Amino acid sequence: MSAPPRPGTVDLRSDTLTAPTPAMREAMASALVGDDVYAEDPTLHELEERTAALLGHEAGLFFPTGSMANMVGVRLLVEPGQELLADVLSHVLRAELGGHGALGGITSRTWSDGLVDGTSPGRTLDARVPLALMAPDAGPHLVSTAAVAVENTHNFGGGTVQPLEQLQALRAGTAEAGVAVHLDGARLWNAHVATGVPLAVYGGLSDTVSVCFSKGLGAPVGSVLVTTADRIARARVLRKRYGGGMRQAGVLAAACLHALDHHVDRLAEDHVRARRLAEACAAAMPGSVVPAAVETNIVVLRTHDVPAAAVAAAAARQGVLVSALGPRVVRAVTHLDVDDAAVDRACEVLSGVLAGAVAA
Ligand SMILES: *Cc1c(COP(=O)(O)O)cnc(C)c1O
Repeated sequence: MSAPPRPGTVDLRSDTLTAPTPAMREAMASALVGDDVYAEDPTLHELEERTAALLGHEAGLFFPTGSMANMVGVRLLVEPGQELLADVLSHVLRAELGGHGALGGITSRTWSDGLVDGTSPGRTLDARVPLALMAPDAGPHLVSTAAVAVENTHNFGGGTVQPLEQLQALRAGTAEAGVAVHLDGARLWNAHVATGVPLAVYGGLSDTVSVCFSKGLGAPVGSVLVTTADRIARARVLRKRYGGGMRQAGVLAAACLHALDHHVDRLAEDHVRARRLAEACAAAMPGSVVPAAVETNIVVLRTHDVPAAAVAAAAARQGVLVSALGPRVVRAVTHLDVDDAAVDRACEVLSGVLAGAVAA
């Protein structure tokens, strides 16, 4: 039901590219709806309640995008002029167009969770780093840290799963200092499926959590923010102020509920395929990626002295689309619309392109 750029194209640019399946479209077509600005959409309420329960929180609120859910989630924890700490490659600080500063008045400082250089296993949290960086109640001269944001899985870090013991250490250290934790869980589903750690365990280590249904779960639109019922009441005001008050959005929530029922466990298939792709790429260009560190559906490749744009262009000529994320960084993402045959084709094309580049 999707409209690929060319028939036979394998599109690994992102897991946001999935089109709703016929069964998902049927669920959307038959959804009960109401006006959600009046809080009268039963399907939306079902999704919000179900997501909150899964993550072990009191209440949830539906958002059109993960960026808006993150912006509101962080703003609930951080007042204008206070700061948010996050990894230097985090989505909240890098891919939300400065919204936390521009709209929320929030300042930020970053730490670096290590390199993704093809020889080390990607970006995973070392809780000691943000704990050493934070400055709660910094007084009248310095900016006070109000919250730390963690991304699980880490998108630009190569889909890495954050180690549970580091999340626990972060929770303990921040709680002691009165600093809050926001979890950007756009792909928390992938972390859960890869590790078997219950979603509620991850949820219990954070004050606010955002999750996306529009990535690997394959819904066309939608994120949910979960936290306490009091904070969700404030979040409803902020969401409307940011222009995100929706009307019969139950049509969208029905797609998300369908994804919860049918598309969570299958993420394991995406993980196996991503690992296979990483193995092919590492064999063709040694040091481009550590296959054993590819735990979920994202493969980040270091292309060494070969321009990432050249790799992406050469692969595209053979019908395999990947993203050039930086001058020497390529990203390939497996998802619902990439089956075994498609990933075989991607392995063949990408290893040919990378091996050719090494030989040249
Ligand atoms: C996709 C994504 C989001 C949300 O992005 P939207 O495009 O605004 O839905 C947030 N965090 C991470 C890590 C993501 O990958």
